[in-house]
Amino acid sequence: MTSATASPASTAPVTALDASAIKADFPILAEQVNGHPLAYLDSAATSQKPLAVLDAERDFLTHANAAVHRGAHTLAAEATELFEDARATVAGFVGAQPEQLVWTSGATMGLNLVAYSIGNARLVRPGDEIVTTAIEHHANLIPWQELAARTGAVLRHIPAHDDGTLDMDAAASLITERTRVVAFTHVSNVLGIVNPVAELIALAQGVGAITVMDACQSAPHLPLDLPALGVDLAVFSGHKMLGPYGVGGLYGRTPVLEALPPFLTGGSMITTVTLDRAEYLPPPQRFEAGTQPVGPAIGLAAAVRYLDAVGLDRIHAHEGMLAQRMHAGLAEIPGIRLLGDAAGVERVGLWAFDVDGVHAHDAGQYLDALGIAVRVGHHCAAPLHSRYGVTASVRASTALYNTTDDVDRLIEAVAGIRPYFG
Ligand code: PLP
Repeated sequence: MTSATASPASTAPVTALDASAIKADFPILAEQVNGHPLAYLDSAATSQKPLAVLDAERDFLTHANAAVHRGAHTLAAEATELFEDARATVAGFVGAQPEQLVWTSGATMGLNLVAYSIGNARLVRPGDEIVTTAIEHHANLIPWQELAARTGAVLRHIPAHDDGTLDMDAAASLITERTRVVAFTHVSNVLGIVNPVAELIALAQGVGAITVMDACQSAPHLPLDLPALGVDLAVFSGHKMLGPYGVGGLYGRTPVLEALPPFLTGGSMITTVTLDRAEYLPPPQRFEAGTQPVGPAIGLAAAVRYLDAVGLDRIHAHEGMLAQRMHAGLAEIPGIRLLGDAAGVERVGLWAFDVDGVHAHDAGQYLDALGIAVRVGHHCAAPLHSRYGVTASVRASTALYNTTDDVDRLIEAVAGIRPYFG
């Protein structure tokens, strides 16, 4: 499978990371839960935050808090500098220039911004087609349903095979001259498989369609170079990548951002305003109406510096090892069905599974009693679950701070679920 790992060093062997030492940087991971040390396996929902991130936000609020881009005073200048430095740092993390990075409140906001802006630009008209996949998070599905409804466009979905891989033959026939937008996830938050996004982008480029990538589940787990990948627009979520809540990033290729009108309007995104009309600033400020999440943005910059210092190649290798270990253990347990069990594909470190005869919520509570935190439900991917014949699953997802011990505790505990519920 192709991935967006455009790192020149990706063929060089990577040294293993020391997950126990990393864990020590995350105060919450020292908590006891229900009398057991916490095994936090829910990072695909939200990651934990290292002290460096907590400190960065607190330092900003303690020493430099002021409104950015407007004040004439020293603190305002300092806050503006920290905020714009954060933009450069987070943009650089995905290989981009600062002006290609729009702050959002999260990935959901970024995808809605993009869908509304594409609609406002009338880039989608009645009879046009929007192509997504059948394995999207609701955040990359419903905004396109709404855009199709508003414009009279037709929504099409690239199906997935039983093993969780996308049906690329179907993709090739679904993406046609009528396609205006192709929106897809880099990594599904349920299947964990790295999708062949370079191929999807090539198909979309062949028909002149705009590409929109949901990088929520890839950005914290593997090296990303979005300009090298050639995607037009991509979103990621601060709270899933060691950063604070309330901040996310929208990357856009410069000509694409320049061609898009604003979604939200108001202060901070204009050059001139009269009572009748307004002129807008160029990107990224054009898309940043109102007060921005300054402290969270500074925290997110600290988060990506932390990820970079460990090294995304090493993180990807570590989590790949955890995923294999989890697979080997879970696949042995009678009555456990892993979703997206394709062999030989590139993955991040998560597995969702069904426990035969036991509701996912019961399984989750059983694990919680043992100090193991997992997510249960449809993980905001209800159509995906229907595709695999279940309404809910248990999902265990790792990050750089998870140890083999966390995974071994999960496997041992999962083995006890069916015997317990009889
Ligand atoms: N896309 C995927 C694949 C996700 O896993 C999530 C979070 O659950 C989102 C989008 C939504 O992200 P946010 O919480 O930043 O709105």
